[in-house]
Amino acid sequence: MVGGNAKYPHLLAPLEVGHVTLKNRAMMGSMHVGLEEEWFGLKKLGEYFAARAAGEAGLIVTGGVAPNFAGWVKPFAARLSNGWEVRKHRYVTDAVHREGGVICMQILHAGRYSYSPLAVAPSAIKAPISPFRPRALSNGGVRRTIGDFVNCAVRAKEAGYDGVEVMGSEGYLINQFLAQHTNKRGDEWGGEYEKRMRFPVEIVRQIREAVGREFLIIYRLSMLDLVPDGSTWQEVVTLGKAIEEAGASILNTGIGWHEARVPTIATMVPRAAFTWVTRKLRGEVSIPLVASNRINMPEVAESVLAAGDADLISMARPFLADPDWVKKAREGREEEINTCIACNQACLDHIFQNKRCSCLVNPLACYETEITIKATTRARRIAVVGAGPAGLACATTAAKRGHKVTLFEAGEQIGGQFLMARQIPGKEEFSETLRYFQTQLRLTGVEVRLGERVSAAFLQSGEYEVIVLATGVVPREVRIQGVDHPKVLSYVDVLQGHRPVGEKVAIVGAGGIGFDVAEYLTHRKEETPTSQDIAAYMDEWGVDMSHSRPGALKEAVVSAPARQIYLCQRSGGKLGERLGKTTGWIHRTTLRNKQVTMLSDCVYEKIDDQGLHLSVKGKAQVLAVDHVILCAGQEPQRALLAPLQAAGKEVRLIGGADVAAELDAKRAIQQGTLLAAEL
Ligand code: FAD
Ligand code: NAP
Ligand code: SF4
Repeated sequence: MVGGNAKYPHLLAPLEVGHVTLKNRAMMGSMHVGLEEEWFGLKKLGEYFAARAAGEAGLIVTGGVAPNFAGWVKPFAARLSNGWEVRKHRYVTDAVHREGGVICMQILHAGRYSYSPLAVAPSAIKAPISPFRPRALSNGGVRRTIGDFVNCAVRAKEAGYDGVEVMGSEGYLINQFLAQHTNKRGDEWGGEYEKRMRFPVEIVRQIREAVGREFLIIYRLSMLDLVPDGSTWQEVVTLGKAIEEAGASILNTGIGWHEARVPTIATMVPRAAFTWVTRKLRGEVSIPLVASNRINMPEVAESVLAAGDADLISMARPFLADPDWVKKAREGREEEINTCIACNQACLDHIFQNKRCSCLVNPLACYETEITIKATTRARRIAVVGAGPAGLACATTAAKRGHKVTLFEAGEQIGGQFLMARQIPGKEEFSETLRYFQTQLRLTGVEVRLGERVSAAFLQSGEYEVIVLATGVVPREVRIQGVDHPKVLSYVDVLQGHRPVGEKVAIVGAGGIGFDVAEYLTHRKEETPTSQDIAAYMDEWGVDMSHSRPGALKEAVVSAPARQIYLCQRSGGKLGERLGKTTGWIHRTTLRNKQVTMLSDCVYEKIDDQGLHLSVKGKAQVLAVDHVILCAGQEPQRALLAPLQAAGKEVRLIGGADVAAELDAKRAIQQGTLLAAEL
């Protein structure tokens, strides 16, 4: 290991697989980013992957590419089946090889998950997450589909990929053949397990035959389906062995079908929560095994490998957040890693909205050729006011470019609202972003002045050429009779002021903060965060760690909530409708399990000693609560703007100080970064 870091001997150890030597055990897992379908997107995709190869990712796997039209995840999604499509993939493979990387292309057939009327499946059973009923493949159709997988792999080899990953998990077509849940066929591709597993085994066997020995075949094996009638553990082992024999080089771990109701990658999932699954397969096969899901820092990856749970670690989102993840670990600069906080806000949520992926903590991700942070030719004196996410991103990026930056913060710590967010059980990862920015402030030489609430007069008298107001927000004032009653608190009183809260609580406002405050209050204050307790997590979500039942599901065990909570909103419809697509259901399920009463169509009347008087869907009632907590949104805090503008100063607004409506950290960090890039 040349120049390796002794702290990570397992992570940084090379691995020989077939004809290639991987320089370390960190694999960039497959993730569709939306560039695949853009006009000239593969050029951009090439540079995106090349940055990760330059950052020393040991092995890269592309997002899923369909082997035929029916396999599309959605109409016009990435596909590789014809000779003329090969050339554009060269942008990707050449760019990665230029940086010394190894790259495999994932072949993904969506089956009944295809968001298209062309969808096919082993049986005509509609998926709960797609409006289209699939057509059952005929016997000939199954054989042709296998041929399409093989053809796709051959094209990938022509395009210069070092191998392919066959996507056999997450509930896509191959998984649909394997599980009785979705395979009701009576022919040679259905019935007993030996027949249901013929489809993937034939795919791998025929690909190996067609591509020869000098080509990697990774098979992503669904080791834990988390759906009723999913695979048993014995079936997983049988399949693993058969896939090895058919010619696979590496087995990757798949956890949970997309329709499963167990969170497997969101931020409340404990780190490395599922590596025990991969470990169970060790000794059953002799090819390398890859562990995945919620591994985001080098010490976590190292401990998984050192414990013998796997031979390689797959991380997809962490490489979006920081292309130099491995390099920084190797050089002992892990404090500089921009850690993926598993929020899904700019990556998976974007994919569901048909938008290009990026990353909340790294807005440059997937924009490598469009946004560049260049050294400035005209260094200026810049004051940034407010050290929340927007101010931190702006100050550090501007200083990196060579500007002389002073960052003023009224509080005693950097972080702004992230200091409140990270106290929510399951959001502890937000601390990593503050650690990252703290390190960047030091490295870029920003002058940080904490505990200084600056005034317009002070800023006017300074010699700042540009003043950036990143002063955030103030909670919205609510007009309800009795709002100044002692039992009324704001979320700031609770999360920042740590004011005591009674046993019965009504929360006014069910946006992101209302949901988070409800989650916070379902836990007891004296409870230490339990979000890293893997066994407790599996119990809470009904995962059977013994895998004694098909699909590994069992009855969930939910601990009693610390309080009786009412979560209220004025509008109609489901609460939390505007929460992220990939995480909203988790927040709703958690609160439902904690018996939180969710009330929509509320009209608030008054607050008095009795509690909160309101009508719900026209019916008057009193919620006899000890406290009413206001989480009713926010307004921009920009009192400094007018006097500074009147004094003729160049003033810029970012984050909540600019627009508070629908503000989140994604916009705050992106706006701060983009402003600094142009100053
Ligand atoms: P802020 O974070 O509000 O920072 C403004 C800073 O300016 C503060 O530190 C303040 O002290 C300082 N300041 C103000 N005036 C002055 C002055 N005159 N002089 C010096 N300093 C001053 N967002 C997400 O994207 N995902 C989430 O999951 C999420 N969860 C959240 C959970 C909670 C409980 C909360 C409260 C917020 C959450 N948010 C989340 C929202 C996110 O934190 C905000 O969108 C983000 O912090 C806004 O960044 P900002 O820099 O604009 O403002
Ligand atoms: P928000 O999402 O705008 O929600 C405000 C809530 O207050 C709504 O339920 C709204 O619904 C209610 N409300 C608005 N005006 C009111 C009034 N005058 N009286 C009573 N109720 C009122 O704001 P937030 O919850 O404060 O969150 C702030 C930002 O932080 C959000 O934009 C969010 O993106 C971000 N955040 C994100 C997450 C996340 O997980 N991604 C978590 C926390 C925060 P009704 O009008 O129907 O009552
Ligand atoms: Fe990770 Fe959030 Fe960035 Fe996605 S957007 S890569 S989950 S930090």
